[in-house]
Amino acid sequence: MKIRFLGTAAAEGWPGLFCSCDACTKARNLKGKNIRSRFSIMIDDAYKIDFPPDSYYHMVRDGLDYTKLKYLFISHPHFDHLSSEEFDFRRKWFTNLRNDHSLNIYGWSKSIKMIKKSMAESDENEPIFHAIHKFQKINTPDFYVYPLPANHMQPKDKPFIYLFVRKSDGKTFLDAHDTGMFYDEVFEFLKKFHIDVISLDCTHGALSSLNNHLGHQEVLLVKEKLEKLHIFDNGIFIVNHFSHNGKWMHEEFEKFFKPHNIIVAYDGMEIDF
Ligand SMILES: [Zn+2]
Ligand SMILES: [Zn+2]
Ligand SMILES: [Zn+2]
Repeated sequence: MKIRFLGTAAAEGWPGLFCSCDACTKARNLKGKNIRSRFSIMIDDAYKIDFPPDSYYHMVRDGLDYTKLKYLFISHPHFDHLSSEEFDFRRKWFTNLRNDHSLNIYGWSKSIKMIKKSMAESDENEPIFHAIHKFQKINTPDFYVYPLPANHMQPKDKPFIYLFVRKSDGKTFLDAHDTGMFYDEVFEFLKKFHIDVISLDCTHGALSSLNNHLGHQEVLLVKEKLEKLHIFDNGIFIVNHFSHNGKWMHEEFEKFFKPHNIIVAYDGMEIDF
């Protein structure tokens, strides 16, 4: 399973679009791993999590071809994770695709509605939409995928984190951004699995947060709890989805997390397992 971190920032990117705070100024000067675009992850060539406003940049930077994308999982309809207007460009005026219905899109019904609205003018290349529910077992050719409820937004909303289980060998990847401390029902559900690779929210960086998003200390709490429940032991633990408000540069993140065996994601990072 090849996991490619296309973008590793929170909503406004880092440097922020309209921000000249210390953290953004440093990132502008230092560049490299401190430049973070809006969150997205690609799994192999056909699977992707989220469609952020930087999807075009990711495509050009990494030589991606989204016509090969067949399974798109939307975590939640916040703008930095779902730039739904882009789907208008599946109209035949803008693409050589003809009657292509090979793209499957999974998400909360609100995310699906937003994409459908953007495609109202056209149906010739309509994706296959899947409005999904928490803990539902999704069957794709290569993976079973489980949407789990994220501690993010309001209780009535349905943001997801996703657990991928590869059919061929049972290897697992948990993508958990835009969430605070996991709900008890999520820990309970995860007890049935052994996680090989996890990518966890660390939006607040040097600051602290237990709900909606996580800070550096709270990441350790989640890790501890996963270890205590034997859901995670010596796998690969990654932090991801960073805001400039969290202050730390990439090197400072590494200094804190390295002793805890935690990898700090950066744009373009790849994990193969
Ligand atoms: Zn986000
Ligand atoms: Zn800033
Ligand atoms: Zn969000």
